[in-house]
Amino acid sequence: MRSVDEHLADILLTVRSLAPLEIELEGALGTTLAEDVVSPIPLPPFDNSAMDGYAVRAEDVARVPVTLPVTGDIAAGDGRPLVVAPGTTMRIMTGAPMPEGADAVIPVEWTDGGTEHVVIGRSAARGNAIRRVGEDVRPDDVVLAAGALIGPAQLGILAGVGRRRVVVRPRPRVVVISTGAELAEPGTPLAPGQIWESNSHTLIAAVREAGGEGYRSGIAADDAGRFLDQLDAQLLRADAVITSGGVSMGAYEPVKEALAPLGTVRFDRVAMQPGMPQGFGVVGEDQIPIFALPGNPVSSFVSFMLFVRPALRKMRGLPAGPTPTVRAVTTSSLRSPAGRRSYLRGVLAADGSVAPVPRQGSHQLAALALANALVVVPEDVTEVPEGATVEVIPL
Ligand code: AMP
Ligand code: MG
Repeated sequence: MRSVDEHLADILLTVRSLAPLEIELEGALGTTLAEDVVSPIPLPPFDNSAMDGYAVRAEDVARVPVTLPVTGDIAAGDGRPLVVAPGTTMRIMTGAPMPEGADAVIPVEWTDGGTEHVVIGRSAARGNAIRRVGEDVRPDDVVLAAGALIGPAQLGILAGVGRRRVVVRPRPRVVVISTGAELAEPGTPLAPGQIWESNSHTLIAAVREAGGEGYRSGIAADDAGRFLDQLDAQLLRADAVITSGGVSMGAYEPVKEALAPLGTVRFDRVAMQPGMPQGFGVVGEDQIPIFALPGNPVSSFVSFMLFVRPALRKMRGLPAGPTPTVRAVTTSSLRSPAGRRSYLRGVLAADGSVAPVPRQGSHQLAALALANALVVVPEDVTEVPEGATVEVIPL
């Protein structure tokens, strides 16, 4: 048996970052920037008002109350070259360009709000409520560096410096193929011996959460030849493939039967529970990574978290290593087989405790759905007493 760490290390050595691609801003959420983005202009691009109020010369409001004639309005977007003459004022709105001559803004709340004449009740220092040109970004500043993960705020600054397109490492496209003659589509009737297919739904959702695009390919029956045909058809649109089922020791293991002879996918027993049988390698001309995960629902999900998620991070151009853990105190004792690392399902609470869920079978989907964490029990530990501190992977 090989260790979890060895298996992951092999995967991370094989998987490569996706090639950069220029895309529209609308599609950039969750991608990784692959260029330094430089601002062509300062931000703000011009001095403008930070408040709704009156543009004044500070010296004209040194003694208050004072009444000033209002010579006009300046709305946001007003591009006229305007001047505030000594002893006068103009109404100004938030974001509107400062007129020449004015060196302060009096918030409307400090005035009677007049439109012909305004009574100003408070003085202001020069520069009051003015947003200065370039105080956020100077021209030629790098506003985002290559490697930045693009979230909502990052999209904002890209648009804010006028970008329509950006060069990114895209979200990996991951095709999920479930295998099993017993599998029926949810929503269709179950024949005797059948169960509803669930893994592909879990895995595709997990792919999305991990920053990829998940695609479900139909259920493959337990036939190696037909499975290979289906895989071939999917390779065109995939940056990676995940299969579920068909990799253990029984008969009718189509994934293993189909892929083992290729010589580019190895099948191993990994020292973990759940999820001992694992396959990983590359397929097709483009050497697309393929993760052949075991079929038990908990096993395939845990395998995803341990092996596929870090690989997707590497494909996205992000730092990739073992899935991070936190420490928690277990509320009950735990048992784990010798020589295998266990990932028990638990509920992690805000008080730093973790309560293992009652049913720990690798087929027990409902128990998995109650959990929000995996409790890690190392290979050399077979029993953990209640109250002990354990490593936990939050889900
Ligand atoms: P296998 O790895 O193909 O031997 O499957 C192990 C167990 O997981 C069997 O009980 C299967 O019925 C079940 N299983 C396999 N694939 C799926 C799936 N896609 N959805 C739900 N259960 C599955
Ligand atoms: Mg099967």
